[in-house]
Amino acid sequence: MSVYDHGFLYGDGVYETLRVYQGTAFQIDEHIERLFRSAAMIDLSIPKSQGAIKRAVYATLKANRHKEAVVRITLSRGEGPTGLDPALCSSPTFVIMSHLLRPYPEKYYKRGVKIAIVKTRRNYDRALNPQIKSLNFLNNILAGIEARKEGAVEGIMLNYKNFIAEGTVSNVFLIRDGVLCTPAVRAGILDGITRGLIIECAKELHMKVKEGRFRKEDLVAADEVFISNTTMEVMPVSTINDTIISSRPGSITKKLHRTYRKKINEYIKEGGGKR
Ligand code: PLP
Repeated sequence: MSVYDHGFLYGDGVYETLRVYQGTAFQIDEHIERLFRSAAMIDLSIPKSQGAIKRAVYATLKANRHKEAVVRITLSRGEGPTGLDPALCSSPTFVIMSHLLRPYPEKYYKRGVKIAIVKTRRNYDRALNPQIKSLNFLNNILAGIEARKEGAVEGIMLNYKNFIAEGTVSNVFLIRDGVLCTPAVRAGILDGITRGLIIECAKELHMKVKEGRFRKEDLVAADEVFISNTTMEVMPVSTINDTIISSRPGSITKKLHRTYRKKINEYIKEGGGKR
């Protein structure tokens, strides 16, 4: 790749991360659709069809002989002289790579993890919309540095109005009186694909779901808290900053994770999204 690539120079691009189970790229269509949505939001047109991207993902997995893996699709503005104008780049750079899954420690799921509500705010959605899964990750990186200094696995950012937004690489959920609550997309978050499936699981389990505005106090006072993303699935939270939520994953968190795993198995069995 060129050092003049605008993805490298300016973070001008978008990406997706997919999880591969037994050789099947889970929810591949949803991820490719989001890649197209992200690209459209930065006025970048993708020079490939959804079908061609899917075939390229599977060709990569085959070439690398990866079955339990993580795939990353990166699309940047491409190579061009320095300057911010996208017209300087004639064609986007398109990269698909896969690596073997490095699973999170089992104890994270058995005992739950510590998360920290950090001082760094989620970037203002009218400055850089978090719905764009962009190569600009400094906002999240700074929040992650803060979280790690507190010994936390994930940092949770508030939005500029003091409402809970999301983690640096995850969405956040809380359970209160049996209701599954999570910040609405309009809180300025990435509309996580795992988040969407968890909401679907909850509805199938006849749980009440509330997508809305939640404060730090709601999170700390919740009965159960968990975070989600494509690679971690449903990860229980035991501690928020210095407040202990619980030393074991809550029953609803466990039930949602079981239902989510069932969805994965069904997807694999039905050859979901294959080519
Ligand atoms: N929020 C942010 C900022 C993320 O980076 C991610 C994933 O990397 C998520 C949420 C979760 O998204 P998904 O469930 O699609 O992996």
